[in-house]
Amino acid sequence: MLNRTWVVKLLFVATIIVSSVLPMSAQAQAPRSPVAPRREVVAAVVKEAYDKFKNETRGKNADYIPYLAQVDSKLFGIAIVTTDNQVITMGDVKYSFSIQSISKVYTLALAMEALGADTVFQKVGSEPTGRPFNSPVAVVDMPTHTGNPFVNAGAIATTSLISGKDADEKWTKILDFYSRAAGEKLTLIDEVYKSEAATNTGNKALSMLLAKYERIYADPFESVDIYTKQCSVGVNASQLARMGATLANNGINPANGEQVIKAEDVPHILSTMMMAGLYDGSGGWAWHVGLPAKSGVGGGIVAIAPGKGAIVVFAPPLDEAGNSVKAQEVIDYVAGKLNYNLYSPASVGWK
Ligand code: GLN
Repeated sequence: MLNRTWVVKLLFVATIIVSSVLPMSAQAQAPRSPVAPRREVVAAVVKEAYDKFKNETRGKNADYIPYLAQVDSKLFGIAIVTTDNQVITMGDVKYSFSIQSISKVYTLALAMEALGADTVFQKVGSEPTGRPFNSPVAVVDMPTHTGNPFVNAGAIATTSLISGKDADEKWTKILDFYSRAAGEKLTLIDEVYKSEAATNTGNKALSMLLAKYERIYADPFESVDIYTKQCSVGVNASQLARMGATLANNGINPANGEQVIKAEDVPHILSTMMMAGLYDGSGGWAWHVGLPAKSGVGGGIVAIAPGKGAIVVFAPPLDEAGNSVKAQEVIDYVAGKLNYNLYSPASVGWK
């Protein structure tokens, strides 16, 4: 005799078999988990976007970090990882670039893990600055001084919240956390770190300003140094897409099932990404694309489609605000075609 558990298991298996053989139109009638459209649909859209934007030449590599100025500006890669761990890639997805500001997302998650969301909100806040990402004016002007965790001042304050007996222990904690989100070991790109550490007087100044307002929570220069290391972590587009998919998947890495980020912290992270992930380009991004995203001056952007997956594009030339031009265009195109815009009724299947 079959007991209840077995009946449930059999039904589950039967559902999977039926849904994998049914054509799309029939599947639309049946209840489905909210995963990405089928693989070939996504792959076709990615190829279209790649071909459409590969000759885009607008934008300019970041040059205030000397290493970044000499990265090949023709590099172009697209990677999507879905919450059911399908991986779709195109172009230069093996090239390891510096994660830069995208690291801020994961240090925020780690700080919340340790201190709770309320404490982090109280110590860093989450308000748009309306200023460039490295603005000292925002630190002086804003009532919170830190602004939000994704501008440099707020990010350095967030990094300063990570505890450890010394700088090394704090740094290792951060790197391990990023690696868990990626599902593989990540490492520092030493040349990027050296290049940035030699030129980061602006960030040091921000840390001293924060100290003046008592909005930094460890030694200011030590915090800047750890922050500079976290920005110099190397990722390729696929690794970054897996990190993004972990956020899209309620904090669970879809490759190995590990709960890396607390589910309750995910909405705070995604809302902050929507509001400030592309700095003073965030409003236009929300208007057009409607997905939480984060950019880095290394040329990467990760966009999160909650419950569906993450889209990463890597292409070094940036616009005025410091966001990759090609990455914005490609994600806008792909997310539009796949109906991922969170504010669009089509994102939940309504016509
Ligand atoms: N490391 C860079 C900086 O501190 C990060 C900035 C960015 O990616 N927007 O300026």
